[in-house]
Amino acid sequence: MTTESVSGEENIAGIVKIASKILSIGYVCNRCLGRAFAKLLHGITNEERGKIIRDFIALSLDFGVNINVKMENFQEYNFRKIENVEQGKRVCQFCEDIFTYIVPKLGEEAFRKAKAYEFENFLVGTVLNKKLYENDEMLLKISPEYSESIKDEINREIGKSLCEKLDKIVEHKDPQLLILVNLKKLRIELKSKSLYIYGGYRKLVRGIPQTTWYCRRCRGKGCKFCNWKGKMYRSSIQQVIEKPLIKMTGGKRSRFHGSGREDVDVRCLDYRPFIIEIIDPKKRNIDLEKVKNEINRSKYVQVDDLKLATKDEVIKVKEAKNDKVYRAIVTFSKILNNMELEKLSTLKNVKVSQKTPTRVLHRRTDLVRERVVKNVEYRLLGKKRLELIIECDAGTYVKEFIHGDSGRTKPSIAEILQNPVRKIVLDVIGIRK
Ligand SMILES: [Zn+2]
Ligand SMILES: [Zn+2]
Repeated sequence: MTTESVSGEENIAGIVKIASKILSIGYVCNRCLGRAFAKLLHGITNEERGKIIRDFIALSLDFGVNINVKMENFQEYNFRKIENVEQGKRVCQFCEDIFTYIVPKLGEEAFRKAKAYEFENFLVGTVLNKKLYENDEMLLKISPEYSESIKDEINREIGKSLCEKLDKIVEHKDPQLLILVNLKKLRIELKSKSLYIYGGYRKLVRGIPQTTWYCRRCRGKGCKFCNWKGKMYRSSIQQVIEKPLIKMTGGKRSRFHGSGREDVDVRCLDYRPFIIEIIDPKKRNIDLEKVKNEINRSKYVQVDDLKLATKDEVIKVKEAKNDKVYRAIVTFSKILNNMELEKLSTLKNVKVSQKTPTRVLHRRTDLVRERVVKNVEYRLLGKKRLELIIECDAGTYVKEFIHGDSGRTKPSIAEILQNPVRKIVLDVIGIRK
């Protein structure tokens, strides 16, 4: 048999052979018998297909055709010749009768749980337990060309009832709500698509990281090392921004995707683009103006330009290469003199070669990056103090460009001035978009 065969090339014995293989195993319900022929005839259910096949086999048996079947499959038929078909309680060898009780009950659970979510579309998926999986494999093996998986039937059953009860549509590619029928645990598990919100943030204080750093010893549970806080810093940009969003969406947690990041001790006074991802949100329609106002009550962080985003935009935001402008207040070891400072005015569009900074060498590969410093302006603030305005490529290690990192960054301000740097206080003051 091939799928290319046209009408007339098959023998009716083919259907009888498949039916016999199934009906000789033990009792099989119409739904499972019909599922072996699911791809034949549109517009009828597997149960109807099963009924047609069973009637036909019963008719053939009464006609006197010799077909190998278990007679318990034919309790409800009144045969002409065959007598004493044993009566009694039967359980389907394939689906174990889950469609009579378990599936409808899980359908109700799915409805109850889904009601807690705000969504336009959904998809149902099924995880089989070991026994049902083996049974399913057996049926697919008996009728590889015409059958479908029991998972398709469960998904369809529950999907159909949810469509009606919830007035929502099924979405196969990118559903907002995934409803998982877990037959191993006999329960419904829901997973809603992440909500992505784009915005720009300003960081007004030093001493907090962009993303939440959980304690590396206890991973957030709280221990002696982290003073029972679970976190390494008092707050983070992510923590401030996620707070109203998690509250309003009922989401579980967040993932933060920034367009680059400033160091913990650096402020960011221009708006840096980001996308925050809220995981497993229950509500999807939220008032972003209200979110913004709540965040902006924080002393640490300000946001602007909040809008809904998509997953595809995350990579764009993360990989955007925006030129940056920094302001640095630098304290040197020796007294600065104007003659030497003149040399800084030559720093226009210079290529700077940077070996991976010593301070991050423990977690990053040691390699050489080349970045362009577009412009440097300076203003003397004291005998040893200088204000620098540095405009450079995205990804420039600015601190290293200032202090030279023991010669690992060349050229550097310290090298040009022949004056070691003692302290740098840094702000991002411009992100060119
Ligand atoms: Zn069955
Ligand atoms: Zn800890």
